[in-house]
Amino acid sequence: MKKNMNLSENFYQNSLFTFDSFACFCAVDTINVSPDEARNVIKVVSQKNKPVKFAFEPNDGLVRVSLKSGAVEERNILSSLLSINEDKIENYKKFFEKNGFFFPINIDKFEEIDDDSLLIIISRMKATVELMSQISEIQRKNYDRILTLTLALLLSPETTIQIGPHQYKTCKHKKLYDELNISASINDDESKLKVDKDYNIKITDSIYGEYKLDLDSYRHFMYDDDLLDNFWRKIVHSYVNHQDANEDARLIIEFLFHTFVDIGWFWSVSFDNINFAQEPKWDKFDDKLKKALLEVTKIVIAEEINSNITGVYPEYDSVIMEPRWRVESLMSALYFSIFYMKPNLELTRLCANPKCGRYFKVSRTSLKKKYCCPECANRANQNRYRARKKEISI
Ligand SMILES: [Zn+2]
Repeated sequence: MKKNMNLSENFYQNSLFTFDSFACFCAVDTINVSPDEARNVIKVVSQKNKPVKFAFEPNDGLVRVSLKSGAVEERNILSSLLSINEDKIENYKKFFEKNGFFFPINIDKFEEIDDDSLLIIISRMKATVELMSQISEIQRKNYDRILTLTLALLLSPETTIQIGPHQYKTCKHKKLYDELNISASINDDESKLKVDKDYNIKITDSIYGEYKLDLDSYRHFMYDDDLLDNFWRKIVHSYVNHQDANEDARLIIEFLFHTFVDIGWFWSVSFDNINFAQEPKWDKFDDKLKKALLEVTKIVIAEEINSNITGVYPEYDSVIMEPRWRVESLMSALYFSIFYMKPNLELTRLCANPKCGRYFKVSRTSLKKKYCCPECANRANQNRYRARKKEISI
């Protein structure tokens, strides 16, 4: 008993915050909308008789601790959440039953959340972690993946879930959307554009130095209603007419302009792929655009994290006489773990076995580690061997 007490005391001294919540009862209802459409609703209610406690310790991440002994019950709650197979919403039930819901909820009445919104919230968290990990890869950056995830975070519509009187909104990327509002007030005035003798508009561009956009194309973009939707028209408008926008905002606009106009138009983007209208011109995805992408990705990661740690406050702890953080929800606690992830020291990486889907921690000294466990490494080797054999037999 004595031993346990000491352990927990030390533990709490090393932790940056503790957070109390309640386990929850979780049920999934399927609503049949039509013979070929069904949607799921997650119902959660807090269990007052099942309190749970979390602590954040820089070396172990967010952990759940036993209320009785103070011992760690489960390490790295962020990895546990991100490793859940998202194919079935039922798979999340266990997580909420053990750890409580993302936000404080009722104790006497179900809160309902539709599965799409919940999965979007989790996908955004996954994308943020994957991007942090991709950014700090030195030699093996997967630029296609970085492009897809960055565009998905930047351009996906805002998702809102209502929990009692509280509303949670996914991150709205203010730098981009504020710029679109500002540039919307600038009139289209061709007499102000710098046009050369070949009818090209000369644009100051931080990615390519100077960029020439031919005047006819510009007019099509701006006035041909069938060509661009309102959003992309605003991007082109800002790109041409607001060249002295705020530095970060300008880079995002330039990057979106070149991705859309040079690589290829796309209808939509998800966390899995970009839905291009036609075969993308990947040769246009050159080193300069890749460099700009990495800068935009960093801005996007920062905005995602900042928007999700608004429920975290500094607080002075009178017992241990040390500064601590006060955390209002499991959601904030999870993003706090991302906030404290040091891309230069340690990463949370997705296992390279495509059938696995687990996230695991990699330290700077074991950067080559691609698989979460030896079994996954073996399986991937076997698959490669089988694929090669198949190729040969064909
Ligand atoms: Zn694995």
